[in-house]
Amino acid sequence: MRFPLALTAKIAGHIIKHKLRRTPKFAMVLQLEPLHTCNLTCTGCGRIREYSTSLKDMVSLENCLAAAEECAAPMVSICGGEPLIYPKIEELVNGLLDQGRIIYICTNAMFMRKKMRDYLAAVYSPEFEPKLKKLLAEDLVTDKEAAAIRQADPAARDKSVIRPSQWMYWNVHVDGLEFTHDLIVEREGVFKECVLAIKMAKILDYQVATNTTVYKETDVAEIEDMFKFLSSLEVDGHTISPGYDYDAAKKDMVKRLGRDPKEFFLTRTMTRQKFAKIQEWGNAFTIFGTPVYQEFLAGKRELTCTAWAIPTFNIKGWKAPCYLMTDGHYGGYHEMLEKVQWDKYGVVDGVARDPRCEHCMVHCGYDPSGALGTNYQRGDNWKNFKYNFGAKPKPYPASPELEKRAYCGVTAGKGHLSEARAAINPAAGARGAFSNEVHNHDDAHVGSHCGTGDTSERDDLLAKIKDAKK
Ligand code: SF4
Ligand code: SF4
Repeated sequence: MRFPLALTAKIAGHIIKHKLRRTPKFAMVLQLEPLHTCNLTCTGCGRIREYSTSLKDMVSLENCLAAAEECAAPMVSICGGEPLIYPKIEELVNGLLDQGRIIYICTNAMFMRKKMRDYLAAVYSPEFEPKLKKLLAEDLVTDKEAAAIRQADPAARDKSVIRPSQWMYWNVHVDGLEFTHDLIVEREGVFKECVLAIKMAKILDYQVATNTTVYKETDVAEIEDMFKFLSSLEVDGHTISPGYDYDAAKKDMVKRLGRDPKEFFLTRTMTRQKFAKIQEWGNAFTIFGTPVYQEFLAGKRELTCTAWAIPTFNIKGWKAPCYLMTDGHYGGYHEMLEKVQWDKYGVVDGVARDPRCEHCMVHCGYDPSGALGTNYQRGDNWKNFKYNFGAKPKPYPASPELEKRAYCGVTAGKGHLSEARAAINPAAGARGAFSNEVHNHDDAHVGSHCGTGDTSERDDLLAKIKDAKK
C-alpha cells in the first residue's frame, strides 16, 4: 500500500463520520506552532515579523494538547519555528499520541539525531547492538555517543522520548539539493545533516517524510532529482506545495501601475507550469495528498479553498483565515469557524473572492478540498481510494551518479557558503557561519515559514543561484 493502512483508514473514517453527520466544516490537520524560535535563519523565513520568537513566548503544553482536543483533527503537524527546540516536545508528541493523533514533526533536522540518541539511551538493551553497530558503521553516531548510549544513566531510561511509531513522522524540510538547500537555509552542512538524520531514522524504524516548497525560480529538474535521491533513502512520503507570496504593495503596483503580476508572483499559470508533471511524480514517488489536488495543481480542474480544514494554532490563538494570511486570531476553533466569513476567501471557478487569494494554490488551502469532495466530479472518490490504497512506488535505485548530483554544494567543493553567497550576492557574502546556536530573528526577513508566505526573497536567491550555476 502507498501509505500505512491504519493511517489511511483513520483519516477516511474521520471524513466519513463527518459526512454522515453532515458537519459543514471540520478540521483535518492542525498546524500547531508551539513556538516561533528557530536555530536557523533561512532566507525569506517568516513567522518573524508577525510573531515574537522569544523562548518566553511559547504555547504551554496544556494549551497545545487542549487545542488538539478542541479541533479534533486526526493529524497534527507540529511546526514553528523549530519544534525540536520546544522544551516539552517529547511530552507534546506523547500527549498527542495518547489522544490518537497522527503526528508530523516538521523540522529542519538539525536536532533530530540528538533526539534519536536520547531515544536510544532510554531504551538501550543488548538487543539494540546490531542497530547501534550499523549506526556506527555508517558514521551516524560517534564512538563516544555510542558509549554514552550503552552506559546511559538509569534516569535516562525513564525520560520521555520520541519513539518510532506508526502514528508519527519526522517531516524534514528540504527545498532542493545540497547547493540550493544550504544557500536557502544560509548554513553549510544542513542538507548533509538532513540526509544523515533521515538515514539514522530509517535504521531505527522511524517513519520519515519530507516537505518541499516550489518557488517561482525553483528548477523543476532539480526537484525531480531531489525526489529520486530522497526516494533512494527510502523516505516514506513527500509533501510538495507551491509557495505563495501575497504582498499588498506588489498587488497595488499591479493595479495602479499596470505592472505584469508575473514580475512578482508565482501566478496560477506559472504554478500549473511548474506542477505539470505532478501526476507523474505522484506515480513514481510517495507524494502525500490526493490525486484530485494534483489535478488542480496541474491545471486540470478547479477546487475551492478549505482553509478551515487545516487550522493554525499558535501563541496568539487560532489564526484566521489560514496559515498564510492573518485577518485575526480567535480564542477557540469553533469560535473561529463561526465568526469568520469563510465565503469571503478563496477562488471559486477561477474568480478570487479576496484579491489576496487570487494566485494561491497552496497545500494548506486546497489539499483538503481534494479529500473533502468540494467541486466533486464523478469518479473522484475512486481516484482517491486507488491512489491511497494502491501499491507503494519502489524506492529509486541509489547510485553514485545520483549521490553526485545531490551533494552538489559544499561536498563538491563549490558550496563554501561565504564564497557561494559572495558569488551570487557580494554584499551578503560574509553571512552564514555554521553554528548550532538558537537564533531569535532580530535581523528578520519578511516572509515565509519553512517555505510558505512571502516567497520573494527566496525567488531572488534562487534566480541568482541559477545564474551562478551557469
Ligand atoms: S486561497 Fe490561499 S490565501 Fe486565500 S484563504 Fe485560502 S489558503 Fe488562504
Ligand atoms: S524557514 Fe523554518 S527552518 Fe528556516 S528559519 Fe524559518 S522556521 Fe527555521
